[in-house]
Amino acid sequence: MKEQLESGLRALGLETEGVPSLLRYADMLVETNQVMNLTAITEPSEIASLHFLDSASLLPLADFHGKTVVDVGTGAGFPGVPLRIVEPSIKLTLLDSLNKRINFLQGVCDELGLQDVACVHGRAEEFASEHRESYDIATSRAVASLPLLCELCLPLVKPGGYFLAMKSVDADHELQQASRAISILGGRIEKETDYVIPGTDVRHRLIFIKKIGQTPKKYPRAFAKIKKNPL
Ligand code: SAM
Repeated sequence: MKEQLESGLRALGLETEGVPSLLRYADMLVETNQVMNLTAITEPSEIASLHFLDSASLLPLADFHGKTVVDVGTGAGFPGVPLRIVEPSIKLTLLDSLNKRINFLQGVCDELGLQDVACVHGRAEEFASEHRESYDIATSRAVASLPLLCELCLPLVKPGGYFLAMKSVDADHELQQASRAISILGGRIEKETDYVIPGTDVRHRLIFIKKIGQTPKKYPRAFAKIKKNPL
């Protein structure tokens, strides 16, 4: 796994100092996964590629240096934790509605010495009331369909910042469906970039949604309403 991570990070043009932390994180993930459902991916080489390198693939695509980042529905820490390990200047908030996952992540941060990472138990749509338009970047992977996800994430992003949605390459329909929500919420689709996870032939898509204005105060709504009546 060490060599796979080093060569993958080099292929992305990134430093490899974070590899020992990623290895320890992988150990904790596999250990804890035996007693708590954190991930379906447990093979070391797949943790390296499908979790760590997939997450790190965002770093060459967008400017994360010194940015405030909230990872919405981070689960076992993806993409937030690998981003912060490889790019330590990120000021990171990990947000998830499942407290046991947040407790796991707090343990990972303590073990790895990531003291300045905020691990927050909460629902994105409720977190927005106190943290509205506070982040340079919101990231999210595998949490909800794009029309719903935009209402969870865009209110958290400062005007001028970005919501970066990690999606599969067949996200065209989802993106079309989300276009009205994005414009209502003060966003604009800036671009979509496909990338291949280093050392694999897995192709994923990063959708760049720029916050061009303020989100009207009535959003986000309660989750039941978002789900029942997507924008
Ligand atoms: N992002 C991680 C990944 O790619 O491995 C985890 C994906 S997991 C399938 C989805 C996570 O989103 C779960 O941990 C769930 O608790 C969280 N989640 C779902 N809705 C949420 C909400 N409204 N606010 C915060 N977290 C949410």
